[in-house]
Amino acid sequence: MSKREKLIIFDTTLRDGEQSPGASMTKDEKVRIAKALERMRVDVIEAGFPIASPGDFEAVQAVARVVKDATVCGLARALEKDIDRAGEALKEAHSARIHTFIATSPIHMERKLRMTPDQVVEQAVWAVKRARRYTDNVEFSAEDAGRSEIDFLCRIFEAVIAAGAGTINVPDTVGYSLPQIFGETMRALIERIPNSDQAVFSVHCHNDLGLAVANSLAAIQAGARQIECTVNGIGERAGNCSLEEIVMVVKVRRDHLPYTTLIRTEKLFPASQMLSGFISFGPQPNKAIVGRNAFAHEAGIHQDGVLKERTTYEIIDPKEVGVPESRLVLGKHSGRHALGQRCDTLGFPLTREQLDAVYRRFTALADRKKGILDEEIVALVKEVVDGGAPPPAKARVEPATVRGSLGRGFAFPMRAARRLGSASR
Ligand code: MN
Repeated sequence: MSKREKLIIFDTTLRDGEQSPGASMTKDEKVRIAKALERMRVDVIEAGFPIASPGDFEAVQAVARVVKDATVCGLARALEKDIDRAGEALKEAHSARIHTFIATSPIHMERKLRMTPDQVVEQAVWAVKRARRYTDNVEFSAEDAGRSEIDFLCRIFEAVIAAGAGTINVPDTVGYSLPQIFGETMRALIERIPNSDQAVFSVHCHNDLGLAVANSLAAIQAGARQIECTVNGIGERAGNCSLEEIVMVVKVRRDHLPYTTLIRTEKLFPASQMLSGFISFGPQPNKAIVGRNAFAHEAGIHQDGVLKERTTYEIIDPKEVGVPESRLVLGKHSGRHALGQRCDTLGFPLTREQLDAVYRRFTALADRKKGILDEEIVALVKEVVDGGAPPPAKARVEPATVRGSLGRGFAFPMRAARRLGSASR
């Protein structure tokens, strides 16, 4: 497995991602996200849908002006006004792509577009040629490909490749596909389309059944080389393929997957935090890679194992994805060893007798309360060491403050503890 094929990471956080309820971003926030994606070495940044609103147009234009190391992409229906607006918004981009799309499923063609299949092919070919007036880098998407007939997909894709589309995107727009079926479709398209070698095949999956990452992976294994994804997996409805998950699947399981990406994975968590700070929701606590609990261990056996050798219960070093440290949640299932280590980290190395005394108080408290804050541990330590003096008021750190300073999605008791430790010394 020495020869690894490079996967193109196409991020659509600013376009499909922003289409999730509660995920609107200002122009300035979009520029900051785009810069974070550029630092992460994403290949393509879909910055918006310029025809959608003046705000979207200006955001795409602003992103196109500042980004130098990634291609900036604008979305356009297969309509003249859309394509011209996208071309205008991308005028100053270092590297620009126009992404044009039209629906290809029978239900969309008949009920939404009210067009015949022949008219849809003709319109798609016309749109790709129009987009080529603005840039050599044109992507074509068959909207609702997951419910389209494969013969028709072959026909339209062959036609748009001949018209100059360099990327062919196969979206599972409604999140209905299954990995095996989606992989078979991708493989059949690449095999059957005579000029498929002149385009990069791309996958765009939605998470309605929780299969966006699995379906994307199946598509890659069937020959797709571009993945459309978003930070924190945000996007329409249940969201899109999660960027951090697909990137880490490829990296962690490189023993089975002969692919590589350019992504600097230590930028994943900071980007997730930045996004959570801008929109109205963060990743759910148990979200893979970037969720608050992704590297948390509460059970005593697990904590003891991780403290002795991290890889006993962790398949990813948190530092590798930019999480500052593994987070041991101290609760009633925790052991003496973990508590002793936390006291050390908080700046209170204890003797065995002191630790025994603190541990008794700790387990009594943990019986009454779920998850013990570091400041509460400090208070217990002070009871034992100083004979009951409460911690000084300035040393108290409210969890809300900590959370606020790090974005809405995440709280770091260990970091808070450090501040607490230095303040009380
Ligand atoms: Mn989508």
